[in-house]
Amino acid sequence: MKITAVETIYLPRGITVHAGAITYLWVRIHTSDGLVGLGESYPNAEAEAAIVHSRLAAVLLGRDPSAIDRLWADMFLAVSYSGWGGAEMRAISAVDIALWDLFGKVTGQPIYKLLGGASRQSIRIYNTCYDRVDFNHEPARLAGELLASNVRAMKIWPFDPIAKETGGNYITAEQLRRAIEPLRLIREKFGDSIDVAIEFHGFWNLPCAIQIAKALEPYKPMWLEEMLPQDNLAAYAELAGSTDLPLCVSERLMTRWGFRELFENRAAAIIMPDISWCGGLTEGKKIATMAETYYLPIAPHNCGGPILHFATAHLSANLTNLYIMESVRRHYNEEYERLVTQKLVPGAGGELPLPTGPGLGVELSADVLTRKDAIVRRSSV
Ligand SMILES: [Mg+2]
Repeated sequence: MKITAVETIYLPRGITVHAGAITYLWVRIHTSDGLVGLGESYPNAEAEAAIVHSRLAAVLLGRDPSAIDRLWADMFLAVSYSGWGGAEMRAISAVDIALWDLFGKVTGQPIYKLLGGASRQSIRIYNTCYDRVDFNHEPARLAGELLASNVRAMKIWPFDPIAKETGGNYITAEQLRRAIEPLRLIREKFGDSIDVAIEFHGFWNLPCAIQIAKALEPYKPMWLEEMLPQDNLAAYAELAGSTDLPLCVSERLMTRWGFRELFENRAAAIIMPDISWCGGLTEGKKIATMAETYYLPIAPHNCGGPILHFATAHLSANLTNLYIMESVRRHYNEEYERLVTQKLVPGAGGELPLPTGPGLGVELSADVLTRKDAIVRRSSV
């Protein structure tokens, strides 16, 4: 079997989630015996599609799609000289997911079995609160709804509006109190029955991050995520030394080399790669295995599109060092519906079932594939 065509598909800006700021890139790998593999990246589909066709297609066309590690290394070589850390690695990630989907279809197996099999019967999730219920205004209502559906962990970012007010350069006592309020209200109503991660999106400087972490300690958040940008990991080590709370870093790191320094400086307690950014399932598995040698767990980032959701579930099913998988109820209940053929939603126990196969076990919907405004580009032999 050989790769005969590499196809990219995306929809115009403005019709996918987050007010159109994000476009999902879908990659389809076509083969000589008619099987098609599907992968995904985001958020700048135009840029990622350009890399697929200008750099990666020449590596892929005519090759055996089951040689996934070899193809990954050759794609990496094709982009590494000009810098691999942005749209290049996102494009490789989408292709890599498509190659795994294809391998699953060839073998008739779900991807998690090919990664080494199931390490659990269902997948523990938390809900990231891009939600119709605003966590700043009704945090206890939101936590109550999640608990009622047996989802016992959530993620909120109540410090972001203040970081925008101060540029992340300072935080006053009043602002600190205001930002802690949602978590305080959740603890007041539900005690410790729900875990709450606090996300900071890298908006703060080091002294503020130290100050905020100290103030949050009595409220026992599940983790503090990206308090600082991820470009100076030595600063993270200093932050980690100042607090008892676990730090989670970072979906913005890519490849095993990007995560190596993070492991070695011991700053992070929880490791968060994004499968559609870090280099795909191939690289996600390698990063997780490296983390295991440092006795660190993985909480994969899953705040993108529907194919990432399925790919992340396959990796999460397999990893022996899974902490918890991210999920967004608004995405899997509403936004993904018209984009793909299958749903992957938590069961009555609040956990995700293992995805079925073969491959990812999901396809783009007929609606996406037949849309007149879909932007489709194809490189072929
Ligand atoms: Mg994050």
